[in-house]
Amino acid sequence: MLDTGFFRRWIAAAATSVSREADRLTDLDSAIGDADHGANLQRGFTAAAAALEEEGPPTPGAVLVLAGRQLISKVGGASGPLYGTLLRRAGKALGDAGQVTGPQLRDALRAGADAVTQLGGAAPGDKTMLDALLPAVDALGTSGADFEAAREAALKGALATVPLLARKGRASYLGERSIGHQDPGAASTALLFAALAEAVR
Ligand code: ADP
Ligand code: MG
Repeated sequence: MLDTGFFRRWIAAAATSVSREADRLTDLDSAIGDADHGANLQRGFTAAAAALEEEGPPTPGAVLVLAGRQLISKVGGASGPLYGTLLRRAGKALGDAGQVTGPQLRDALRAGADAVTQLGGAAPGDKTMLDALLPAVDALGTSGADFEAAREAALKGALATVPLLARKGRASYLGERSIGHQDPGAASTALLFAALAEAVR
């Protein structure tokens, strides 16, 4: 079972890792965007982790809803509402259970990924965060708890965005010139799933 502490460790680990890798995320965004992705996510996840410390939400669902709300309110870029929607929708799907199973987490993240797809209108292969997110959720497997496989799938999905042509978001304005660069949002999704694997202990 995954308890509230697991979800708090996940968001805290995500905040640490996006802060550590903020420069790399911003470099990726400077190649095909506006060079703010690292700063955006550092601000958003740091605010989420701080809000969790302050408010101490009692359930896994409440942790994700609070974190998602912080991302939506603290990040101006496209990624804030998208990641915020992912976490908030996943949190809502978990309801008010005190502990959740792997399959419940997987299904909640799938519902979150569906909400991201609806909000952003992107499809797989459009060179967005979905190209890391969808394979990572699939890789959680029947147990819903194969976090190492999900980490690897997200990383592989992110690296596989390099040769793609961007069809959504700012990078799409570049057309063919978006080819040959890794999508920043797919790279940060890989960090999010690495943080999920770190939250297990
Ligand atoms: P902005 O593009 O507003 O500057 P960020 O730089 O923080 O926002 O985030 C850019 C990332 O957001 C992209 O690399 C991509 O992964 C993701 N993204 C942008 N638009 C969409 C969309 N419509 N659907 C899914 N993901 C998107
Ligand atoms: Mg940007």
